[in-house]
Amino acid sequence: MLPALILIAGCTKQQPTFNYNVDKFYDLEVLRYKVPDFESLNVQQKTLLYYLSEAALHGRDILYDQNCRYNLRIRRALEQVYINYADKQDPQFALLEKYLKRVWFSNGIHHHYSEDKFLPEFTREWFDAALAATGTQLDEEVKDVMFVPGIMAKRMSQADGEDLIAASAGNYYGEGVTQAEAEQWYAEHKDNSAEPLWIGLNSQLVKEDGVIKERVYKVGGLYSEALAKVVENLEKALQYAETNEQRTAISKMIDFNKTGDLKTFNEYCIAWVKDLESRVDYVNGFTETYSDPLGITGTWESMVNFKDLEATKRTQTISANAQWFEDHSTTDPQYKKEEVKGVSAKVITAAMLGGDCYPATPIGINLPNANWIRKEYGSKSVTIDNLAHAYNEAAKGNGFNEEFMVDDDIRRLYEEYGVLCSDLHTDLHECVGHGSGKLMPGVTKDALKEHASTIEEARADLFGLYYLADNKLVELGLLPDPDAYKAGYYQQMMNGLMTQLVRIEPGKDIEEAHMRNRQLIANWVYEHAADKEVEIIERDGKHYLQVNDYEGLRRLYGELLREIQRITSEGDYAAAKQMVETYAVKVNQELHKEILERYARLDLAPYKGFVNPVYTPVKDKDGNITDVRIDYSEGYVAQHLRYSRDYSDLPDIN
Ligand code: ZN
Repeated sequence: MLPALILIAGCTKQQPTFNYNVDKFYDLEVLRYKVPDFESLNVQQKTLLYYLSEAALHGRDILYDQNCRYNLRIRRALEQVYINYADKQDPQFALLEKYLKRVWFSNGIHHHYSEDKFLPEFTREWFDAALAATGTQLDEEVKDVMFVPGIMAKRMSQADGEDLIAASAGNYYGEGVTQAEAEQWYAEHKDNSAEPLWIGLNSQLVKEDGVIKERVYKVGGLYSEALAKVVENLEKALQYAETNEQRTAISKMIDFNKTGDLKTFNEYCIAWVKDLESRVDYVNGFTETYSDPLGITGTWESMVNFKDLEATKRTQTISANAQWFEDHSTTDPQYKKEEVKGVSAKVITAAMLGGDCYPATPIGINLPNANWIRKEYGSKSVTIDNLAHAYNEAAKGNGFNEEFMVDDDIRRLYEEYGVLCSDLHTDLHECVGHGSGKLMPGVTKDALKEHASTIEEARADLFGLYYLADNKLVELGLLPDPDAYKAGYYQQMMNGLMTQLVRIEPGKDIEEAHMRNRQLIANWVYEHAADKEVEIIERDGKHYLQVNDYEGLRRLYGELLREIQRITSEGDYAAAKQMVETYAVKVNQELHKEILERYARLDLAPYKGFVNPVYTPVKDKDGNITDVRIDYSEGYVAQHLRYSRDYSDLPDIN
């Protein structure tokens, strides 16, 4: 049963303002996202989306258990105390609420991003009394895991020299399984055929009587109760599939959940990647492997979505003009592709987030992960516009742009065109940037070794930046105003030189390839701005980026694009190394300190996540779904309590 809904529909004239900001605690902020054009879906599509959403929600417990074997017991005890504890004004109770909100956000007791265990602020004595007062059972062993700092301190450890399994709280391996044993088991079972099975994707390795065994995630196996509900809803969704490929994909996913058979999983991936025509699409199952310290087993996730037709047209336009972009770029003709094909990226609207996509979520998806399938059948790469839009709307008025942008003119331009510039830049980067240019004979892709990804991202970014200012975009109807690009240029320079440093700890170098690439571009341009095309000015002891000549800035981007393409095409490792080491890695310590202080004063949460909308089917007297209603009014606490009540299928201990 769904709770009674407060519908915000019903009055079409006075739309209440949509509130993107839902909640904020610790370093986390919860937002709400809109699902534009949901009403443009037909009943079949809405019904399909509804059942896929139900399937998405039933995987929630799986993720808690994968993250740590104690998570479900802890969450349930906390929720029981939260609901039943009498004195809601008790300051210790407020601390429990804060901790529980954090547990929901992280799907467990470890920070979703840093992997570190966070500790309750309420006392263990108070918690014991609250458990007793509410008739809640929780073993001392589990309380130790909650309260004692050293126990299960990291969800996933990648520290050199440690047994990574022993050092990680993640539940991908049963008690007593060592890293060496797991690696040996994987090595013995590895499939070396041309169309390999992803051995270990959907199982936990355990030790029984000294022998390593697989507990497979399937109906009748590990996570049976949750996967049975996933299957039940996929079976309902199947009846509303839009295309034959989609029908095949959903059937294969059902079979895979029932049997755990990895050949069926490969068939699912192939059918899924071939399904390009359906408006509604989804991810559902054991997918990304970042959370397994050995990088083998998939973490359960789901995202239900549908194609954003308008924005997809935008990427198709760019991709249809791929040859024009290639021919007119600043790169040396010998490094250009004679025949270049644009990639048509799909832009989607997220409609339901589940498992490892909830509440914190990726803003892009690129699947499947198996290389041989990508090579033979391609992959689906999508950007998720409505979530990016929600981040942006929620950030308005938080003081960030006021603090860091140099004047009102650029701030206004950014507020008007910032999102569009960022969307277009991403499209150019993905649809034509990466695919442009060619390698000279004998040069291989890995010639630039450890600097390959920084240089490759810089190349695609520069391609996008160079064309963002081109009149061609205005001609193609993609930019409404020939000055709009300035918002994107200013943002790139400000971010690359200054504001992205808020994510770096004092004294540390920049490691991540995308961040390196952004600083590389901005720093190089800054150092080469001989006529002060860009400069950093000081006002009242604060530093600001100022762009004096946008056309000059474009020329500098173009020059760097030419050099980065040369480095790539020639496989010039020495030049790549020099470029990265000079511009991308080291941080200006004084500027960094200032930026961190200014950022800290804004008191912003660096990590964001979402609440989902609520979908309610409307049925006729025979029980057929005639429409699906969407409602955005549910809050963060209410949503999690409802999910725990209606979508919690697993036993305490699996
Ligand atoms: Zn890229």
